[in-house]
Amino acid sequence: MKALHIFQDLGFELFIVTNQSGVGRGYFSLENVYVIHRQLQNDLRENKLHPFKDFAICPHSPDDICQCRKPSGQMIQDLITKYHINPKKSYMVGDKLIDAESGKNAGVNGILVRVSQKTDFPFFKNLLDFAHHLKSNP
Ligand SMILES: [Zn+2]
Repeated sequence: MKALHIFQDLGFELFIVTNQSGVGRGYFSLENVYVIHRQLQNDLRENKLHPFKDFAICPHSPDDICQCRKPSGQMIQDLITKYHINPKKSYMVGDKLIDAESGKNAGVNGILVRVSQKTDFPFFKNLLDFAHHLKSNP
């Protein structure tokens, strides 16, 4: 939560961009995903944070060959268009390579946290480390 406070203090809007192939595979329903997202929003409010601005969900399984599943940049691109976001001043942070790649594919800065594999993307030990980095490198 501390990291999210820093992001919001710096003026960033927060979004969730998520692959939920468990829906497409029939392991759980989209309604289950919404329940978790509502819980996240409550957690943010209880911690005196603004809620996430929006959620982008790919509910498809890899076999569906959809346009939205990360590493596609489609979900991020849609948010950029919908909210008039400047991609150059935005970051896609994730703990999987496909997260950073999806950001890159949408023209957004891709950032990795908590991964051990070496990649070309900037890497931080955790979200808080990245938040501190942004704060000291505005
Ligand atoms: Zn999809």
